[in-house]
Amino acid sequence: MEIKNKVFAVTGAGSGLGLATVEHILSRGGMVMAIDVSASNLDLLDHSPRILSKHLCDVSQNHEVIAALKAGQKHWGHIHGGIHCAGIAPAAKIFSKRKGSHPDVLFERVISINLLGSFYFVNALTPIMIENQVDSPDGERGCIILTSSVASYEGQIGQVAYAASKGGVNAMILPAARELASHGIRINAIAPGIFKTAMVDNFPEEVQQDLASQIPFPNRLGKPTEYGQLVISILTNPMINGTVIRLDGAVRMT
Ligand code: NAD
Repeated sequence: MEIKNKVFAVTGAGSGLGLATVEHILSRGGMVMAIDVSASNLDLLDHSPRILSKHLCDVSQNHEVIAALKAGQKHWGHIHGGIHCAGIAPAAKIFSKRKGSHPDVLFERVISINLLGSFYFVNALTPIMIENQVDSPDGERGCIILTSSVASYEGQIGQVAYAASKGGVNAMILPAARELASHGIRINAIAPGIFKTAMVDNFPEEVQQDLASQIPFPNRLGKPTEYGQLVISILTNPMINGTVIRLDGAVRMT
């Protein structure tokens, strides 16, 4: 699909991979509805209201996702694509001698934001995108990108909830792509390796260095702009559909 003059809903838009996605879409002449739960993160987006609208929304709350996307549709008239980057990655063991059992509320919170939030986004966006005019000889009406993680394949100790949430995202992609195909809507996910964002900045420096040292090539943490680049490739290449693409410098976490 063309990006110029199209409208894209981006969640987690105020930081990291979402923020890089916003910058890449705007640089190609697209318009963005920026969705985030953090007002202070959204405040960092000081672009012109002509190209960007801001929507405070917790993606784990279905009614908030529906309201944000409806507000975007009212503001812009259409939404042609959605890139879902909102997510959290807290670590906890199933049992730790010091902390005891994995808190069930933490597991539920990770699933609510990372997995249910992804579903709510797709579910609320689809009826809006179905109304779009076809954009190409293929009959394309739009494209959705979710964010998984390499932890869905090689989860580390402490990532049982996170890995389960991202594994759920992976499993949604093919059935969703098969269903949405009849509407001319593509859906894919990106599974990033380890990227230099606020999420990873929270780790101690030595942990970050250890993680970076495990990445074969390039032997460094990923840059958010490299995620943004892949978003543009997926949006503009109609043959990419129904798949989860690893973006990880060949890292396979041990
Ligand atoms: P980040 O912390 O820099 O940004 C996440 C953004 O999501 C923040 O602006 C935050 O306010 C927002 N957010 C969090 N919970 C939300 C909610 N309930 N509703 C709406 N917005 C919410 O993190 P990031 O590294 O950019 O992560 C983006 C996505 O990429 C996440 O899904 C994460 O799991 C995934 N990911 C990141 C890495 C990495 O190494 N950074 C690796 C694999 C996967």
